[in-house]
Amino acid sequence: MADTANVHAESARNSGAGNIARPLKVQLHVHSERSLDSHWPVQELRRHYDQLGFDAIFLTDHDRTARSQELSFERRPLLLPGSELSLSMPFWPLGPHLVLLGVEHIPLDLHWAAHRSSWPAWPWGRTKLHDLFAWIARHQPGVLPVLAHLHWPGNLGTGGWYPYLDALIDAWQQLPPGLPLLVELLNPHSPTDQDRRLWHTLLAAASPQHPVWGVGSDDAHHSDEAGQAWVELWPGVGGQDASHPAHPSRPAPAAETVYQALAHGHFVATSGPPLRVAVEPFPLPAGRELLAETVPGIHLRLVGRGGQLVAESDGPHMRWPLPRGIGQGVVQVEAYSPAARTVPGTFWPNVAFSQPIWT
Ligand SMILES: [Zn+2]
Ligand SMILES: [Zn+2]
Repeated sequence: MADTANVHAESARNSGAGNIARPLKVQLHVHSERSLDSHWPVQELRRHYDQLGFDAIFLTDHDRTARSQELSFERRPLLLPGSELSLSMPFWPLGPHLVLLGVEHIPLDLHWAAHRSSWPAWPWGRTKLHDLFAWIARHQPGVLPVLAHLHWPGNLGTGGWYPYLDALIDAWQQLPPGLPLLVELLNPHSPTDQDRRLWHTLLAAASPQHPVWGVGSDDAHHSDEAGQAWVELWPGVGGQDASHPAHPSRPAPAAETVYQALAHGHFVATSGPPLRVAVEPFPLPAGRELLAETVPGIHLRLVGRGGQLVAESDGPHMRWPLPRGIGQGVVQVEAYSPAARTVPGTFWPNVAFSQPIWT
């Protein structure tokens, strides 16, 4: 049952979107004409995302990387390197997809680990995931793995990640401490309610040393699919130092700033609602306090282990003490808009997810 006694909705204070400092808006998963299923030239893609107010875009074409002349590390929006690998299970092009952020070329050993045919059942699928995560471990810092569309029903039913959970958890734990696993919670090709449940299953095996961050992505193949889901980065510890001048005068962020915020979970995943979450010192005995901020009309939910509701508020602010040593173990904030968005052929939730905070 929700305990709302400690939640202080301060609707009178700081209402209005203008009071939320502007985060960096970043797209983690998009296809250009270098993917067989897309005809979108990179420069057109860039113009389109620029109009949508994006600060950075990772180019993640299928099984290949961007040409170096297409990348841009100076001008807003940045065009950053990435790729979406098809993990041949049992053989290419069947199997789930793994996005690698920051990968500039696909060397032979990575190609071999991803594309050699392997039956998904234990132990072959397990060996493949071990080889892939070992490659990522060898090449960090610089490469972040993202599990794409966790419940995608495509690829003749082989395109989801849920059948490989045990093998995945086993392989992921060999990543060096601090290197996160990212999972898509918002991808138009996958049902968000099921993806959220799978995220919470993974979080039961996660820790601050082995975190799992949830992201939102367009997975766009043309302009009609752009701007549905993204991440908003709050660079700096606990969301501090995050105010930026408004578009278009604001300068381009450094690619390293984008990468560090993603690695450290200083961001929210969203399909629309703004959300900012910070942890601040609080007088004993609580020690710390969680602060969540959105705009009027957005409903805030604090959830604990397994995604269970701990408290809720009509916003736009929520405070929650985080006692040391006891409590929920892990908490997150979700921000829901009552106005559902409709994408043709699917129900698309209007929601933002914070990253987990270990108490
Ligand atoms: Zn995919
Ligand atoms: Zn894709």
